[in-house]
Amino acid sequence: MKVHVLLGPPGSGKGTQAKHLVEKLPLIHLSTGDILRDAVSKGTELGLRVKANMASGKLVDDNTVNGIVFARLQDETNDILFDGYPRTLFQAESLQTFLSSQGTALGLVVDIEIQEQELEVRVVNRRVCSNPDCCAIYNLNSKTPQVEGICDLCGSPLKHRSDDTPQALHSRLLEFNKTFEPLQSFYKGKPNYRYVEGNRPPELIHDRLVQLFQEQA
Ligand code: ADP
Repeated sequence: MKVHVLLGPPGSGKGTQAKHLVEKLPLIHLSTGDILRDAVSKGTELGLRVKANMASGKLVDDNTVNGIVFARLQDETNDILFDGYPRTLFQAESLQTFLSSQGTALGLVVDIEIQEQELEVRVVNRRVCSNPDCCAIYNLNSKTPQVEGICDLCGSPLKHRSDDTPQALHSRLLEFNKTFEPLQSFYKGKPNYRYVEGNRPPELIHDRLVQLFQEQA
């Protein structure tokens, strides 16, 4: 198993890119946001615990997120593509310790960068499939579904994430700006760190990502 990481602010396109990459490459997509949202919608003990933080755009605590991730990685043999994890320096260090203990290598770390003013337009217009096994992502400006409000892939209703309001985005960006610099510094010196300009059409970013993954395979 190898573990790859996508970094970038909320709305930078990590989820969209990850979903397309795993259609083409032998990787499993792990989004901590999707896992946590699924727990919230099912009303599990975990979901009830993290619901308020998620809706207001605050981070879930490191130990909870690390616990979910390490349990998921335990018996995994496939290569993993993380989206939304690690999000803090502590999570990155914990992941590193976990990987070393398993004799597993960190693969690519791809940093998708984008200016903050772009993000609100993207996030406010984002719609996601309500089926937790699908989680397809649409955008009312740039990627509309064929039938309004319905997922092209599975036919479930689309919804607006409760943290995709301007207020919650503001709080997510504050969190992001607080935690990102040390996280980025942790990875920047590593040989597998790559930077990608995120303010471009998704297809171009996809092609660049495929190229990066093929180069290092
Ligand atoms: P985005 O990248 O658009 O902000 P995500 O789907 O990755 O959205 O995450 C949504 C929310 O889930 C975050 O605002 C946070 O509350 C929680 N979350 C997801 N991943 C993590 C993580 N690694 N650490 C802490 N909280 C997380």
